[in-house]
Amino acid sequence: MQLSIPDFCPACDATDKPFNLVQRETEQDFRGETFRVTTPALQCRHCGFGTLGPGHLDALQRATHDAYRRKYGFLTSGEILSRRKVMGFSQKRFAEYLGVGSASIERWESGALVQDKASDLLLRQRTDRGLYFNVRPAGRSKRTFAFSLP
Ligand SMILES: [Zn+2]
Repeated sequence: MQLSIPDFCPACDATDKPFNLVQRETEQDFRGETFRVTTPALQCRHCGFGTLGPGHLDALQRATHDAYRRKYGFLTSGEILSRRKVMGFSQKRFAEYLGVGSASIERWESGALVQDKASDLLLRQRTDRGLYFNVRPAGRSKRTFAFSLP
């Protein structure tokens, strides 16, 4: 479903497309703890009423999950994504390489789901520099790269 920015404010009844995009600091509860996160939101320029716009709920969830990940030393969604990109894998190929479902990769990278500790260890070990240079590029060559490690 494609959401759109409302052109009226339900709090003050302004009808002149009153919402501006702002960054809001907010507190979110997750797994019994409260995290302060900054997330995009819409704010009425007349009365200050705030609401979430298209995509903002996903951004809020990602920010909350990443705050939790940072606190407990897990890879963030962006770190998982960048490790995969460095290795040149699609999400599907990365999932095969890790031995997990490709839906998990999508959820970890989008921030919809926090990986469990075992998965975090797996991600770290299998994307550690040194290991991944020995990975054969998908569908290109049977040659493996042998790098000496520092
Ligand atoms: Zn308003």
